[in-house]
Amino acid sequence: MPLRERYTGLINHYRDRLPVDENTRLISLGEGNTPLIKLNNIPALIGKKVDIYVKYEGLNPTGSFKDRGMTMAVTKAVEEGSRAIICASTGNTSAAAAAYAARAGITAFVLIPEGKIALGKLAQAMMHGAVVIQIKGNFDDGMRLVKEVAEHAPVTIVNSINPYRLQGQKTAAFEIVEELGRAPDYHCLPVGNAGNITAHWIGYCEYSSASGDHVTAACAFCNGECKFARGAVVDNRPKMVGYQAAGSAPFMRGEMVDNPDTVATAIRIGHPQSWDMAWKVKEESGGWFDECTDEEILAAQKLLTEHEGIFCEPASATSLAGAMRDIKSGKIPEGSSVVCTLTGHGLKDPDTAIKQSTAPLLTVEATLDSVKSAILDNMS
Ligand SMILES: *Cc1c(COP(=O)(O)O)cnc(C)c1O
Repeated sequence: MPLRERYTGLINHYRDRLPVDENTRLISLGEGNTPLIKLNNIPALIGKKVDIYVKYEGLNPTGSFKDRGMTMAVTKAVEEGSRAIICASTGNTSAAAAAYAARAGITAFVLIPEGKIALGKLAQAMMHGAVVIQIKGNFDDGMRLVKEVAEHAPVTIVNSINPYRLQGQKTAAFEIVEELGRAPDYHCLPVGNAGNITAHWIGYCEYSSASGDHVTAACAFCNGECKFARGAVVDNRPKMVGYQAAGSAPFMRGEMVDNPDTVATAIRIGHPQSWDMAWKVKEESGGWFDECTDEEILAAQKLLTEHEGIFCEPASATSLAGAMRDIKSGKIPEGSSVVCTLTGHGLKDPDTAIKQSTAPLLTVEATLDSVKSAILDNMS
């Protein structure tokens, strides 16, 4: 007899709120159920009384939140008889697609921008046996090509334009509400294609009586009345705040950006696929968009690793970088509860991490004396 119920992934856990039935074969790696960690030191460092929680999505099976969407998308692709999936990716979608395709026994084709993908993500896609196609172009070019090619070949697109992706990703909001007993006041996320901010809003709306008769205009399935909403859990919803990298900030420019550039490669996207839905999320939730420089993003990543022991990739730190600025300025008032999504693990991008690391890397003789003096010299 097991001593507690085995956790077998988010579809099984939330099956009454997801588009599956008892005959659906679930393609799962135990994704979801990630830790919501309360920051101990950073609020004091910025001198404000706020509760900041980070949702550490880097602890999903392939190291990013993309697994939440991919378990749903691949489960449905297999159910519908598909033998191959395809995606354009800045890296994490390709890693997740490759892993879930391997699990399902189908083929994954991934289009990535040549030279602009973090090393860990490339290693994952290759190890899981995906067909990796590097294109001499950026994510937006890849996305356009994927849409075109899927019209001529028997492949299922598993980018976030696949509505099952957002259904899987909405479960992160469920987990947060269940743990806090209510929705946070603010939920901050990095924004690339804006699928994740939309998915979280769908999740919060499904769990909240504040949504009224209709769940949200953003839900591709609900048409004003979400069939997966099964009664409210709480009575509040957060303001949704989306932060972009300054060199890649179409929501700030109010139009598409043709040559996006940022160290946060996961959000190096100039033509967001969930453009209209994300504007609705901002309106419905009373939130806002803002942008962070690459310097602010890397500083937040470092602060989190050095002062909280939490290692996320650069794009993920955009949520905390923006939140810290808005908390300092009072735009997010003291007394608020704030959740920042840390979308991917720091190990995804070791190059950027090592490049900006200032920790001493000492090389000494293998003797007691030299190790002892290295320690004594570096006692703080
Ligand atoms: C995909 C991704 C994002 C962006 O999410 P969108 O849904 O495209 O807005 C942010 N951070 C990381 C690490 C990602 O992999």
